[in-house]
Amino acid sequence: MVDNSDLKQCNGKNGCGQWKPKSEYSNAAGNKDGLYSICRPCKKAAVHKSYLEKDHEKRKAHANQYYLENKELVKGRNRKYRRRTPAKQMLRNAKCRADKKGEIITITEQDILNIFPTHCPLPHCGIKLVPGGVGYERFNSPSLDKINSKGIYEKDNVIVVCFRCNTIKGEGTPEEHLSIGNFYQKLLKSKL
Ligand SMILES: [Zn+2]
Ligand SMILES: [Zn+2]
Repeated sequence: MVDNSDLKQCNGKNGCGQWKPKSEYSNAAGNKDGLYSICRPCKKAAVHKSYLEKDHEKRKAHANQYYLENKELVKGRNRKYRRRTPAKQMLRNAKCRADKKGEIITITEQDILNIFPTHCPLPHCGIKLVPGGVGYERFNSPSLDKINSKGIYEKDNVIVVCFRCNTIKGEGTPEEHLSIGNFYQKLLKSKL
């Protein structure tokens, strides 16, 4: 048995659960034994934590306010950042797509930089790649494509193409693309 006559357990939400001498507790007149329910170090940590949380809320509110007052400036800055860091953006988007499908992803930002072309490598296209486009303007933005759509994002299974070519390809296989191409070619010819 623990002789706990001079000991008190540091209890409660922010307590460490340890049995400590009563001298380790601050006075709290409102409590039954006249002491705080948690020890001094735990009390100090809890106060610090709540201070940080309050500070975090304050900083967040300040950032939101700044955004509302400087929307165009912030958007412009974000866009410039995206333009400067296309590989980072492509990796982030790929990670997001892989996450949704529960796939693993092994490529790095450097892997993407190593294969980054200046122009879309597809022969019918060849457009100059311009990072940072948004919405309809991103037809010529570089985008990461899986060569084999059924594979994962790994070093030997990725290629950088323009956004438009990537959209056209989607998740289709070469066989499906040939079949679609032949179908529309025949259809168009029959209408001439
Ligand atoms: Zn404690
Ligand atoms: Zn292209």
